[in-house]
Amino acid sequence: MSSLLIKNAKVVLPNEVKLTDVLIENGKIASIGYEGKAEKEIDINGDYLLAGFVDIHVHGGGGADFMDATPEAFETAVSTHLKHGTTTILPTAMTATESDLTDFLNAFKAFKKSSEYSVLTPGVHLEGPYFSGANAKSSGAQPSGLLRLPDEAEMDRLLKVADGDILRWDAAPELEGSDMFAKKCLDNGIICSIAHSAATSEQAQVGIDNGFSHVTHFYNAVTTYRKEGQKVLAGVVEAAYLNDNVAVELICDGRHIPRDVLRLALMIKGADKVSAITDGMRIAGTDMQSGKLGSLKNGTDVIVDDTVAKLLDLSSYAGSIATMDRCLRVLVKDYGIDMVTASKMLSATPSKLLGLDCKGSIELGKDADLLILDSDFNIKDVMVGNLKIAKL
Ligand SMILES: [Zn+2]
Repeated sequence: MSSLLIKNAKVVLPNEVKLTDVLIENGKIASIGYEGKAEKEIDINGDYLLAGFVDIHVHGGGGADFMDATPEAFETAVSTHLKHGTTTILPTAMTATESDLTDFLNAFKAFKKSSEYSVLTPGVHLEGPYFSGANAKSSGAQPSGLLRLPDEAEMDRLLKVADGDILRWDAAPELEGSDMFAKKCLDNGIICSIAHSAATSEQAQVGIDNGFSHVTHFYNAVTTYRKEGQKVLAGVVEAAYLNDNVAVELICDGRHIPRDVLRLALMIKGADKVSAITDGMRIAGTDMQSGKLGSLKNGTDVIVDDTVAKLLDLSSYAGSIATMDRCLRVLVKDYGIDMVTASKMLSATPSKLLGLDCKGSIELGKDADLLILDSDFNIKDVMVGNLKIAKL
């Protein structure tokens, strides 16, 4: 049995921040407030001890995009985000041809076989391709020429290749065939999420009744109150607020969501229903100033402007370049969110969404996926209970 005692930690617990000692045994949290001895002891002198981040929407990092579809690209992106505190990560595919999505799924399988970092990845996320091309606002940076209606035969083929690896799948609920899409997701235990949608609130409600239970990058590329011609319409945002069972995620890079919108979402839905995500793309965790969103082969060129990725004509954001530690700093330092709430959004809420009961918070018996941060919220160390990493 191996035991480690972390002493004098400002521990961010589910309901409070407490200065105490935490004992870890065999990769699990064995005691909080431990007063005995352990094989190894470290004194962190009042630094924060926080649950590892859980990022449920991320396209790449460290110069690699998951759509590059090689096990090496997966390892580069996953290990980059790990250095920034993400201990559970859902690699995200963007809208692409069936053949490119198949390559992505097969690369994930190869990554799982070959890389020690794959213990951080419980499965994958498909963002698309069944989205609305109704306008540039709904398609965002998704390649508009590849958007299509839900296709049952294509879904069946992708599900077969994935063989249980797809944990969430995003679509626009107003599209013909979205009822079939939602049912097939539910039948396969997949979280069904509204994204890149031009739906009215009524159309979104039909989707929710059919099984959509999450909204992808809430407020970004989904509809809200607007006037069209002589009519006023509500949208996906209002439908999400009106349904307690619907969870949302916010890109917390400090660019995609203004502080008061974030506060409003937290006030209405509560931190148990609001996950923080990076939606980070290949540039995340690097000092690159340009790159491709999507695969190197046929991705979209983007540039960094004002610490966010944009299309070359600056007409639209094209994903963030954030890592989860930046999201923590945005939440706590820039937006004034308390540490307990921020930790919930960054770890516990997304972890619960994925049904990962052993992760997401510092509680007895949970995996010791832990971060040590200084008082300015910079990461000093990352631990993963079930992974032996010599040195990051
Ligand atoms: Zn995305």
